[in-house]
Amino acid sequence: DFMKKPTNEPILEYKKGSKERTALEEAIKKYSSKETVVPLRIGKEKINGKLDKRQPMPFDHKRTLAKFSYATKDQIKSAIEATKAAREDWEKKPLKERADIILHAADLCATKYRMALNATTMLGQAKNIIQAEIDAACELIDFLRFNAFFALQHEKYQPISTKISTNKMIFRGLEGFVAAIAPFNFTAIGGNLASAPALMGNTVLWKPSDTAVLSNYIIFEILEEAGIPPGVLNFLPSDGPVFGDTVTADSSLGAINFTGSVPTFKYLWRKVAENLDNYESFPRLVGECGGKNFHFVHKSADLDTVAAGTIRSAYEYQGQKCSAVSRMYVPESVWPKLREKIESIRKNIKMGDATDGSVFMSSVIDKKAFDRVKGYVEMAKNSSDFEVVAGGKCDDSKGYFVEPTIVQSKRPDSKLMTEEIFGPVLTVYSYPDKDTEKTLNSVKDATPYGLTGAVFSNDKEFLYKARDTLKDAVGNLYLNDKSTGSIVGQQPFGGSRMSGTNDKAGSPYYVLKWTSPQTIKETS
Ligand code: GLU
Repeated sequence: DFMKKPTNEPILEYKKGSKERTALEEAIKKYSSKETVVPLRIGKEKINGKLDKRQPMPFDHKRTLAKFSYATKDQIKSAIEATKAAREDWEKKPLKERADIILHAADLCATKYRMALNATTMLGQAKNIIQAEIDAACELIDFLRFNAFFALQHEKYQPISTKISTNKMIFRGLEGFVAAIAPFNFTAIGGNLASAPALMGNTVLWKPSDTAVLSNYIIFEILEEAGIPPGVLNFLPSDGPVFGDTVTADSSLGAINFTGSVPTFKYLWRKVAENLDNYESFPRLVGECGGKNFHFVHKSADLDTVAAGTIRSAYEYQGQKCSAVSRMYVPESVWPKLREKIESIRKNIKMGDATDGSVFMSSVIDKKAFDRVKGYVEMAKNSSDFEVVAGGKCDDSKGYFVEPTIVQSKRPDSKLMTEEIFGPVLTVYSYPDKDTEKTLNSVKDATPYGLTGAVFSNDKEFLYKARDTLKDAVGNLYLNDKSTGSIVGQQPFGGSRMSGTNDKAGSPYYVLKWTSPQTIKETS
């Protein structure tokens, strides 16, 4: 039923011995016993190429999950041609038909391919079972279903007609092709970046992250099986600058749908500016970038809630959610007690292979990430600005493991309080109680980012004052809850300032970004 509001996909528990656990274990065995070949997909073609690239398992980096090749500049260009060839027939299809394909894909993700999506996300991106399930299964399925629902609502919601004129808006796709550039940290985001524009009638070049190639390719295959015709989606693992330069140099670039780092997004903006005189339309740039997300604790806060939420936000998926908390402000009077509570949970965190059903954390994604995070931990150890309160061990002999780490910063404006680390390092600044207001006021402008933040307080008056003070600070504000874990349809997600264009994935408005509506007035 197209007009029925979807409900969020229930999270399976994967209890030991359950049917789903057994099925997942089989999928893990299947994908870890051989290297899967991931081809390029251009129009009707499937191209293996040299297969000289590998996707390793981050927690055991000698083992590899998949092999693939980078698309060359010419192959990227021929994919652009393929988008043009596919465009007319695809866009001509009524939205309901396109939505039907997307909904069919959602059902395939929920059933036949759920274990493949989860297993490849666990093995390739080092997510534990639950982190994989809430991403590669639930969030992906939700994006597909809610986008289809919201798109159909917009079609229903038409301008006003009068006795003399019948007025209508039709939701055309954008003028040219869409370049979807996906991150490693959420499988679902790759699926959303590519499928939402396609739903609205666009044709797409999909560049997966090197470190999430296989899970993204499985989504591609699911969409294909569901009925997306050849050329509507083209799958192009590639060198970042080669891909970025080639798509931005093309006169028919319609949009870039990006999730990744601030420097890369800025690079793309600059390239678009350089090419501005060559375009047939103004390319639409949608980006979700980094953050330096905060937990602000008031002295009235419930400390068990703060401790549990902070552990989850800082360390789930090894702190590699864009939304992960990485700076925390705690009153001096409260810090010793909170520190104890956090430490009593932290010290029992189990780390290991992502496929081990009992681990809370696995490794960070790759050597580059490991070196970056380790660099910050070293900085904390070697500078008098910081004290490493707990954790701090880094070991990449088998996988890229970083212990869940707590650093205390003497200053609120130190590097660890202001720079994005993107790993399991939480930095705490403990502020004098008398400076509560002053500290709260400083939170907003302490970094250039504006993604997520949370305030914990049982004093409602303070809580709402903080909410108002932080109006411009972040795109997603949490009151008495952790800064991560937005749910499609419930907490539309996106950051402001340097964290992105804040177009709110998972909201009713997101799909409108992929349309160039036409208004038609007819008089009788
Ligand atoms: N939506 C996710 C969350 O709320 C984060 C998405 C991201 O890391 O890009 O935790």
